[in-house]
Amino acid sequence: MSQNQGENRDDRWWLQEGAEWCPFCDISLHAEGLSYCIACDRAVCMVCVSQGPDAGEIYCPECGAKADSGEA
Ligand SMILES: [Zn+2]
Ligand SMILES: [Zn+2]
Repeated sequence: MSQNQGENRDDRWWLQEGAEWCPFCDISLHAEGLSYCIACDRAVCMVCVSQGPDAGEIYCPECGAKADSGEA
């Protein structure tokens, strides 16, 4: 019944380069594998993500380092 057009055209999508890009480790990947820094709103992949002091706070490595040093 449901036709997912535009999405899931290829069921091996995870093997392909994604439309999103992590600027910190320079790889392409899918949006499903990315989080967004709550400070600068840049995409950051799960490898580069820097967890804030509170659960659910996602920072990029740069903002994570700033938050770590106590800078606002
Ligand atoms: Zn990355
Ligand atoms: Zn950031």
